[in-house]
Amino acid sequence: MQITEPSRQIDVIHSTDVLVVGSGPGGLAAALAAARSGVNVTLVERFGCFGGNITTVGVEGFAWYRHEKTIEAGGIGREFEDRAKDMGAAVPESQSLSYEIDSEGFKVVADQLVQEAGITPMLHRLFVAPIMEGDRITGIITESKAGREALLAKVVIDATGDADIAHRAGAPVTHPPREELQAASVMFHVAGVDKTRFMEEVRANPQTYADWSNGEWTVETDGKEDDMFSPFLKKPFETARKAGVIPADLTTIAGTWGAVHDSGEMTYMNLVHLGNCDGTDPADLTHFEIEGRRQAMMAIEALRRFAPGCEGVRLRNFGMTLGIRDTRKIDAQYNMTETDVRQQGRFDDSIGIYPEFIDGYGILILPTTGRYMQIPYRSLLPQKIKGLLVAGRATGGDQVAHAATRNMACCAVAGQGAGIAAAQAVKTGVELDAIDLTAVQSDLRKQGVRYQ
Ligand SMILES: Cc1cc2nc3c(=O)[nH]c(=O)nc-3n(C[C@H](O)[C@H](O)[C@H](O)COP(=O)(O)OP(=O)(O)OC[C@H]3O[C@@H](n4cnc5c(N)ncnc54)[C@H](O)[C@@H]3O)c2cc1C
Repeated sequence: MQITEPSRQIDVIHSTDVLVVGSGPGGLAAALAAARSGVNVTLVERFGCFGGNITTVGVEGFAWYRHEKTIEAGGIGREFEDRAKDMGAAVPESQSLSYEIDSEGFKVVADQLVQEAGITPMLHRLFVAPIMEGDRITGIITESKAGREALLAKVVIDATGDADIAHRAGAPVTHPPREELQAASVMFHVAGVDKTRFMEEVRANPQTYADWSNGEWTVETDGKEDDMFSPFLKKPFETARKAGVIPADLTTIAGTWGAVHDSGEMTYMNLVHLGNCDGTDPADLTHFEIEGRRQAMMAIEALRRFAPGCEGVRLRNFGMTLGIRDTRKIDAQYNMTETDVRQQGRFDDSIGIYPEFIDGYGILILPTTGRYMQIPYRSLLPQKIKGLLVAGRATGGDQVAHAATRNMACCAVAGQGAGIAAAQAVKTGVELDAIDLTAVQSDLRKQGVRYQ
């Protein structure tokens, strides 16, 4: 059955140069880069804080790939980490030369960055429909407690992660069936860990990336990763299955812990993996939020009983929302390929570099050698729709390319490029697919981004 939704007049409440929708690593970087390039920027977010998966899911491992020889873009991604560190919202990360970002503290970091850049903040507004003039997007309609409202813009940047805007505007996207998508995760943080005892056990039984492969998953590496330390937890859950604390057929509880704090908190618990979840389907989201919390409580019980140092552990908090890794991607003017991310892709329209870090779809390659790829501007440009760029994990690319570009620091690279390109288009009045890329690259350099 269907009904006809009546047409209605709605208020245009706001006009801006660049409208960024979604404030994860991609959108936040895009908004900051555009604002620092001297145009008016508005940042729209459906939840009550900026930061995307960092703050709403609790993904704290921003650059856990970083080793001595790793070569990176710098720019706003690095600034997120450095600023969090300066504001007491980051601690040294356990397996790399990076800092783990505190998911709660980063809410304040993001607020400050947004305010300092003069960005108009709009929290608690959900994008629901594009405003189109032919094949050009000229704004968006949002839903909120205030009802439906229209926001107009010269350029829109879709940083929703799910390509919500591109898809609804009519740009071609790929959307694999749920059984081909990466697992979703309910993330959580715990309190009550005896840090000294826990770390003694970690040192006594160090886990490596090779351990990721023993059991439920097979992970292809370059070999050089196999003996490297990983903050991996599996044994307590195996014991719990044998003891009947976790059902014998629930073999997917295992994974990594993030940081153990002196206060006894252990954060970024990435232990629950939920297959067959399509993050654009609210029925799936409902089912897996509930199922994920159920599994998380079993994981906590297993830690309490079988992980030394965790005897007094209790739930501190869940992420505000289920963590989604993988949904739609645009069919961009250039879709990145497995070869690009494995063989150091080089592009004339590079807007930034990203180290050879591939994590996903059963592949783990760490950037321990100095190899890196370039990110082409065209992978942010959707087909068929004018006035629109896509930043973050929905940029164009195949599965293995996504296993690299989905990572938060890479989303920030694409976001900063999108923001600078959008500002260029506004200032020069030139279409997004015709802007002067050397001018974009010059602005990237001025903002401290390495793109070659
Ligand atoms: C459990 C889990 C663990 C992960 N671990 C790591 C890791 O260790 N390291 C790493 O680098 N990456 C990791 N990732 C991947 C990484 O978090 C994401 O790929 C990355 O955050 C994507 O950035 P983004 O800016 O594209 O989107 P997001 O971070 O998802 O941000 C999108 C934002 O858009 C908002 N939004 C969405 N739709 C709308 C709408 N219609 N209207 C308004 N706002 C909207 C959302 O609320 C959100 O704030 C992990 C992901 C998950 C789920």
